[in-house]
Amino acid sequence: MIDFHCHLDLYPDPAAIVAECRSRNIYILSVTTTPSAWEGTSALVPNCERIRTAVGLHPQIAHERHEELGLFDELIGLTDYVGEIGLDGGPELRQHRDIQLRVFNHILETCFRSGGRIMSIHSRRAGSEVLDCLKSHPDSGIPVLHWFSGSERELERAIAMNCWFSVGPAMLASERGRALTTRIPRERLLTESDGPFAQILGRTIYPWDINDAVAEIAVLWNASVEEVSARLHDNLRALAVLRNQLAA
Ligand code: MN
Repeated sequence: MIDFHCHLDLYPDPAAIVAECRSRNIYILSVTTTPSAWEGTSALVPNCERIRTAVGLHPQIAHERHEELGLFDELIGLTDYVGEIGLDGGPELRQHRDIQLRVFNHILETCFRSGGRIMSIHSRRAGSEVLDCLKSHPDSGIPVLHWFSGSERELERAIAMNCWFSVGPAMLASERGRALTTRIPRERLLTESDGPFAQILGRTIYPWDINDAVAEIAVLWNASVEEVSARLHDNLRALAVLRNQLAA
């Protein structure tokens, strides 16, 4: 199982979640919402090959935490993964648009200067703006658009720009989310939970709920669960190769 976007540190008992994930051999990208959360979050998973911790600065709190960009720049050398980053175009955040853009562009520049990173990117109601920023930083690394909810046009543009995508049970619960997922190239798809923010059936989602996403993708692809699972693991290996090429 692969959960390429999970906020392990935000569960009430992160150690218990990590222990369960380790016993189930789940591959996880553990994203953070602030640079100051990186140290404690990475300390949750010592010597854990399957769980990697990303350094991030979430767009929804960019206006409160932008002073942590200096710490972000210090931490970038410690990890190959960056997230959660991006832009959020929700109306309640419109007043913070400029600071979000400044933070996101700064992070993309830092990633570029560091040789590129695998980046888990939030783009709610800001698909075109996120793609514009990525276009202006073409060597910032490999973008993985998490829970993409833009238009089909934006999706086509993202695909043409070599973006990857992570989709989860919550996205796949909507007709629109399933329609977008069917258009994503199979070799650039990963699964995610976005726990504990995302919910399914009115309860908090966990990394092992990824099984539901794999089952839903199997329906969309008209394939078996085993075939989908094999494809997703092949994709994760391919992404690791790209990561090693960035690091080389
Ligand atoms: Mn998230």
